[in-house]
Amino acid sequence: MITAYKYKLRPKKAQAHQIDQWLNLLRMQYNYRLSERFNWYESTRSPINSCSLVSCSIAPIVEQPDYYWQKRDLLNTKQLFPEYKSIHYLHIARQRKDFHYKAAKQLLDKYDVIGFEDLNVKGLAKTRMAKSILDAGWSEFLDILVCKAESAGKLAIAVNPNGTTQNCSNCGTRIPKTIADRWHSCHVCGLELDRDVNAAINVKNLAVGRTVNKAQRVSDADAGLAEKPTLYSSAS
Ligand SMILES: [Zn+2]
Repeated sequence: MITAYKYKLRPKKAQAHQIDQWLNLLRMQYNYRLSERFNWYESTRSPINSCSLVSCSIAPIVEQPDYYWQKRDLLNTKQLFPEYKSIHYLHIARQRKDFHYKAAKQLLDKYDVIGFEDLNVKGLAKTRMAKSILDAGWSEFLDILVCKAESAGKLAIAVNPNGTTQNCSNCGTRIPKTIADRWHSCHVCGLELDRDVNAAINVKNLAVGRTVNKAQRVSDADAGLAEKPTLYSSAS
């Protein structure tokens, strides 16, 4: 499994030109912001003992250009110099990736085996769920989860999503539900619980290769699949 990537960019002539242009704009912006800070320092510094109130005129104190001030001012920069608008920032993508890594770590700190539905992300992306699926970056998250699980010596297992929502997690009977039915109510064994919890138990059982066909009730405590007690997880 690949856990690190190395890229070699081969930009076309036009792309190389654009990259140069962007780097140049960013360089100018960086230098301008740096000079703002130097200028502020030069115009406000004063050896505290040798400033005569008689001979020195006291200039109004200028607001110190700190990070937040300069960041706000970038909006003005984009107004004045529209070429800056064409630079694409990776802020959102990076934040999302960061969130994915943190979420994966939280899960792997807590659990040794994680099962997830092997959702057809590309297929779902063509339906009306498309926006939320693509926005959340599900497949990217699952890639990270599987990769991190591997390096932590744990398991993240994709399971076939067929029937995970419809089947009873206790007795295996198929209880048809529409997307609006939020509750699982089994008329055979009497199991009553949230549809998502029912589906989650099915996924867990599939992940550890346990079929629930007319099987006895699956206890959360067995097979070491329950949440690890804090006492042990902090010591390990
Ligand atoms: Zn049942």
